[in-house]
Amino acid sequence: MTDLIKLTAAEIAAKIASGEVTAVQVTEAHLARIEAVDEKVNAFLHVDREGALAQARAVDEKRARGEKLGPLAGVPLALKDIFTTKGIPTTVGSKILEGWIPPYDATLTRRLKEADVVILGKTNMDEFAMGSSTENSAYGPTGNPWDLTKIPGGSGGGSSAALASYEAPLAIGTDTGGSIRQPAAVTGTVGVKPTYGAVSRYGMVAFSSSLDQGGPCARTVLDAALLHEVIAGHDPLDSTSIDAPVPPVVEAARNGDVKGMRVGVVKQFRGEGYQAGVLQRFDESVELLKELGAEVVEVDCPSFDLALAAYYLIAPSECSSNLARFDAMRYGLRVGDDGTKSAEEVTALTREAGFGDEVKRRVILGTYALSSGYYDAYYGSAQKVRTLITRDFEKAFGEGGVDVLISPTTPTTAFPIGERADDPMAMYLADLCTIPTNLAGNAAMSLPCGLAPEDGMPVGLQIIAPAMADDRLYRVGAAVEAAFNARWGHALLEEAPAL
Ligand code: GLN
Repeated sequence: MTDLIKLTAAEIAAKIASGEVTAVQVTEAHLARIEAVDEKVNAFLHVDREGALAQARAVDEKRARGEKLGPLAGVPLALKDIFTTKGIPTTVGSKILEGWIPPYDATLTRRLKEADVVILGKTNMDEFAMGSSTENSAYGPTGNPWDLTKIPGGSGGGSSAALASYEAPLAIGTDTGGSIRQPAAVTGTVGVKPTYGAVSRYGMVAFSSSLDQGGPCARTVLDAALLHEVIAGHDPLDSTSIDAPVPPVVEAARNGDVKGMRVGVVKQFRGEGYQAGVLQRFDESVELLKELGAEVVEVDCPSFDLALAAYYLIAPSECSSNLARFDAMRYGLRVGDDGTKSAEEVTALTREAGFGDEVKRRVILGTYALSSGYYDAYYGSAQKVRTLITRDFEKAFGEGGVDVLISPTTPTTAFPIGERADDPMAMYLADLCTIPTNLAGNAAMSLPCGLAPEDGMPVGLQIIAPAMADDRLYRVGAAVEAAFNARWGHALLEEAPAL
């Protein structure tokens, strides 16, 4: 039974479809794993035992009736606590939503249910997805299963840790500046930020609406593709949702190949601040791509140097507006409502008690950046930089003729819990390589490319594709994954110290 937790999502689905195991057995094995290790890992904020078992039973009944099962039917999943789930708490890692039970499902939640994916529960995250370590959660930090004293990345550290600790074979994350890819990199898992607009934001609690994008997290490239196909697609409830066919990601993941492809190495993403072992593994990935038949060229993206600064104006500006809805009148926490205070006072007391330091820092920063007199100097300039970054990508993929760009996903491996907690600037640097893609709206993946020799922690390789060419990530990712697994003799995660 314990072996069930080591299977990939594709293997689990096949075994359920063939009748070798039941969805209930698979779900019970994962619930038992959560029971055994999550006290140490703290990946989950809420485990929906009854709901998961009911979903699993429904899959087994469907099969017994001879109905056709979808490609992920009966496969358990860990859902980031930023997506609304009808009747199940949704906190976004914040005290301000403690006790709130959403009356509706996010589109993504609904799609998962319709695909018969078994939702095990909701995962821990930095409050409102602001952070790179999951230490900003109001519900305590999550540990990295490779080393519980280190961070599992953020904001989606609960989702990445659930995968790396074998508590779930699939997970969902959201990526505003790197929160799918950075956690994937530091836990030795796979994470994909799809093209902006590919996955509906309806029912996904907003942080920075022009950057936020939900996406798949898994232990293999194929599993991520199978999940991608379930969650992506047009949604009339989201006005920024793309009304076009989903790129053929599963087909691409099944046919990994880079022969004849032109791969661009982003010149800007190395040098000062990059850990030696990260660069070593990245350089080996470059060599590997050449051996596999790709043509590798260096690409200059000068505006990427300004991405972090632009992001930390745009994201806080949008968050200051989005988080205005948490006014103590609509959802969750209400503080000081004793009949003697005005609505404004109750709102202020509730926001003071309900938001953590990082959220407050960003609301203050964003409100300032958007204030009249400063708007053009800060927000306006940041938007211009955003355009320049988009042009760097267009140039690389256009006249530069590259099919994909690559870089390390993060400058360093997982750092110790507490090391950057009081240093926001150091924390922000974790997203140096991931942020340009969010600003431009195109697609990117992180997948494991080895362990850093100096600390034995996983290193992530980032692959970046043009908007709506998400399938390229999977084609390249699958080729790299297969070649590395052949070289190592196993998948990277199998080296993780047992919990
Ligand atoms: N770490 C970045 C931030 O704090 C990105 C977060 C995210 O992608 N949600 O904003």
